[in-house]
Amino acid sequence: MTIYPKLILDALATVRYPGSGKDLVAAGMVGEDIRIDGNKVSFSLIFERENDPFHKSVVKAAETAILTYVGADVDIKGNIREQFRKQQAPAPDKLLPQVKNIIAVSSGKGGVGKSTVAANLAVALAKDGYKVGLLDADIFGPSMPKMFGVEDARPYAEEVEGRELIIPIEKYGVKLLSIGFFVNADSAVVWRGGMASNALKQLIADADWGELDYFVLDLPPGTSDIHLTLIQTLAITGAIVVSTPQQVALADARKGIDLFTNDKVNVPVLGLVENMAWFTPAELPQNRYYLFGKEGVKRLAEEMNVPLLGQIPIVQSICDGGDGGRPVALDERTLTGQAFADLAQQVVEAVQRRNDTQPPTRVVETQK
Ligand code: ADP
Repeated sequence: MTIYPKLILDALATVRYPGSGKDLVAAGMVGEDIRIDGNKVSFSLIFERENDPFHKSVVKAAETAILTYVGADVDIKGNIREQFRKQQAPAPDKLLPQVKNIIAVSSGKGGVGKSTVAANLAVALAKDGYKVGLLDADIFGPSMPKMFGVEDARPYAEEVEGRELIIPIEKYGVKLLSIGFFVNADSAVVWRGGMASNALKQLIADADWGELDYFVLDLPPGTSDIHLTLIQTLAITGAIVVSTPQQVALADARKGIDLFTNDKVNVPVLGLVENMAWFTPAELPQNRYYLFGKEGVKRLAEEMNVPLLGQIPIVQSICDGGDGGRPVALDERTLTGQAFADLAQQVVEAVQRRNDTQPPTRVVETQK
């Protein structure tokens, strides 16, 4: 009997792909590589993704259909190749291979200045000459577009080496992406957990971050699924926990630290940042008023045996800088600019210490 490709396709058209209910031919799953050599038939079946739950059963059903419709003596068993359009998500340390250090900035509760610290840390690192990326992962209240004065920016996608990648916005030497660029800030967006996690994964994996020395993540406050997703998606070098010295904030900061240090997660805490450590009026720069209590975060750091990376005073210019889209870290000559420059230095040293004790998982690939 002579076998024709049409006969093979007719047989495959009787097999339904359970995922879509369409037959394999209509679903575009039959490759163009049908080969017929005597009674030996081979071809590819194309699946959307590597972890397709139906791939084995579909291959089996295709073999059976060909044996039934074309002939029992057709040599088909083991000759169907499986192809996958999308490879499985890469392992955390394979994602962003050109990024040397990933720093997660988090806080136990909202309003303690976590985003302010993340933004100013990113700017201060960039001013020191490092290549810096900043992902605003605070999906419920993305504030980076405002803090960087780029609320109207709309990142576009570009084809890079055959893949459509989102191009981060660049401002003050920092590559920035925020979910705030993609949703209307005025409309309350209710993100279901899964949606938010997927959106963030896309901003990480499908963006052209390029080579970075530091990739700073501004996490949502508290402990949520988003934290776990990001921790599982990325090989985080270390976390920074921001708190005010207030008792209520400290209790939550402790939970924030536990989130990273528990056995399952095991992300090192690089250190704590005491924000709103004291109030200093502009006209009396030497005076310090401890509005939220004195050195609460410093004591927590000692108690939990983690470094205190910095103490940032309450100064109106920090708030104005955030609202006006010009982070204070841009000007090192000011008291606040200096505070963030010192913080950046402490972070660099903490990362260095961490990488000395545990070799970095990420190495920048050098171009040959
Ligand atoms: P979070 O990210 O923890 O919710 P934000 O960084 O958005 O907090 O800060 C909350 C508000 O407090 C913002 O208006 C910000 O400008 C202000 N703020 C934060 N840190 C300081 C500071 N050290 N001095 C003055 N204002 C600050």
